[in-house]
Amino acid sequence: MGSCVFMKNIRCCSRKVDETVEGVPFSRSFKTSKLNARFSDTGLRTSCATRRSCVFFRPCICPRVRHSCKRVLRGPTKPLAIRGSPGLGTDSEAPHGDKVVVVGAGPAGTAVAMQLAKSGYRVQVYERRGDPSEEEQGSSRAFGIVINQRGQHALEQLGIHLPAPGCGVRFDGSLRHTTKGTSLMPNTEGSVCVDRAALARHMVIHAQEEFPEIEFHFSMKCKGVDTARRCISFEDGEGSTVEATYDLLVGADGANSAVREALASEGSLTYSREENLRDYKSFVLDKSLWDSDPEYANRMLTWSSVDGSVTRMWAVPNPDGTAQGMLTLYKGAFAGLGETADYSRLLSAKFAGLRPEMLKAISDSCTDAPVSGGGTMVKCSTLASGRVVLIGDAGHSMFPALGQGCNSAIESAAALKESLEAANGDIESAVRRFSNERLPEVSAAADLSAKVIDIDGSRGPIGNFKKTVFGLQIVLGVLLNKAAPSIFKPPVLFQVNKVGASYVELKDRMMREMATLSVLLVVIVAGIAAAITKIAALFVGPLFS
Ligand SMILES: Cc1cc2nc3c(=O)[nH]c(=O)nc-3n(C[C@H](O)[C@H](O)[C@H](O)COP(=O)(O)OP(=O)(O)OC[C@H]3O[C@@H](n4cnc5c(N)ncnc54)[C@H](O)[C@@H]3O)c2cc1C
Repeated sequence: MGSCVFMKNIRCCSRKVDETVEGVPFSRSFKTSKLNARFSDTGLRTSCATRRSCVFFRPCICPRVRHSCKRVLRGPTKPLAIRGSPGLGTDSEAPHGDKVVVVGAGPAGTAVAMQLAKSGYRVQVYERRGDPSEEEQGSSRAFGIVINQRGQHALEQLGIHLPAPGCGVRFDGSLRHTTKGTSLMPNTEGSVCVDRAALARHMVIHAQEEFPEIEFHFSMKCKGVDTARRCISFEDGEGSTVEATYDLLVGADGANSAVREALASEGSLTYSREENLRDYKSFVLDKSLWDSDPEYANRMLTWSSVDGSVTRMWAVPNPDGTAQGMLTLYKGAFAGLGETADYSRLLSAKFAGLRPEMLKAISDSCTDAPVSGGGTMVKCSTLASGRVVLIGDAGHSMFPALGQGCNSAIESAAALKESLEAANGDIESAVRRFSNERLPEVSAAADLSAKVIDIDGSRGPIGNFKKTVFGLQIVLGVLLNKAAPSIFKPPVLFQVNKVGASYVELKDRMMREMATLSVLLVVIVAGIAAAITKIAALFVGPLFS
């Protein structure tokens, strides 16, 4: 039985339909595959378990067979990609059979799984949580993140277009509330706001449908890595230990990565970790609230604190017409708020233009919501060691100030694929190359985000000075770019979301411009002070002579 088999792509939305069990010869191990569950549903469990290399069936690739919706969609008769066979979503003509184990099915892990499946690798994903396609939406992990042009471009390579049904909203612009009223900043870049959990779920379902050769293993928590044996161990939902060997191990298990910890404890890398000095609470608003004001339609609403502190709030519409938002306070500040009345007092004191019904709904929703940390910055000395590579928050978690964490994570998945291709599949040199090229970029993105967080959180005269310089940089950048676009580029903050814009160059430019403006501002202020002193001396001096 060959490992390169062409099959009819039939999508089934009901396990009760015969078509899903007829088929063609197909070589694949079902023992641990997600497919196992589906075929056991059709009565083929024994056949799958005992005749592991030669099973006859026509595959059902719908991950929602359990819904029994009695619909069968016959897909086009294009071939599926199995074990590197040329076909749907596969770039590579030459299957090489190297096995990639990905830890974590967040945006980074699922993106890298699809990228490497496209290149013909055998990919297994192990995720600590349950199968998101079987979870209800709107879990406590839900909060809105912005997917900009970078992230959208990288997702499009995988066939994911945002917004998708039930996943993301392309808002018209941000409606800023201040003491002077509201002002609209249009969403000229086409950014999409999406619930983080919904995005992860959408990506997993897309991968299961379009890349059925990827094996997903849920409820598997990484416990340790033995790099000498190229073996990783997991604890399954019942507390048993499961081991998997790998040719390439991708740690995409988030900011508290167990894979990174394993590399650090064997001395293969060092890393620093810094917590954002902010906490947040997520809230959900009824559709009726959003519909009550035509100004809100398809817009992001933002509120900054009237006293210039980091207390801020934003809300965006969900695809179902409800809205979700986030209230951010200094770290630990939520501890001082117990009752709904405390939230009402805080919101009315800090935010201008918050309508009473909205204020009440947010106060109600926040009272019992859990407090979450406002993000972590993790900086590693390297993203790769031997045959292990870190991607996404596991290798380069950053503060959310510029909304680059998820976008850069999905970009990193594409960058890893490119490095493997450039190294002709030589895994060790590919991951070294990936780290050498990618680490400076993601470190610069983290530095830029940290800079913005620092300016935003600074208080007193120095804080005001930093905020003035930052504001000047943006205003002057816009004016100069308008006056002479061939000489002056738009401000850094307007370029950071652009596909292909180098974070390293943007960071260097921002630091240079801020240093120049700081000196200029000091010189101007000193000049004005000197002039005032001189003028005063002209008038006051004669009185004492
Ligand atoms: C308040 C806030 C706002 C943000 N806003 C934005 C934004 O606007 N734009 C943006 O681009 N980014 C934003 N981010 C950052 C973004 O959420 C992350 O960068 C992104 O989720 C990273 O994806 P990831 O796949 O690397 O990690 P994660 O999303 O953390 O996924 C890691 C996965 O690994 C699994 N896992 C963890 N440990 C194990 C283990 N031991 N074994 C097996 N599996 C494991 C987890 O269950 C999870 O599914 C924001 C972050 C915060 C906190």
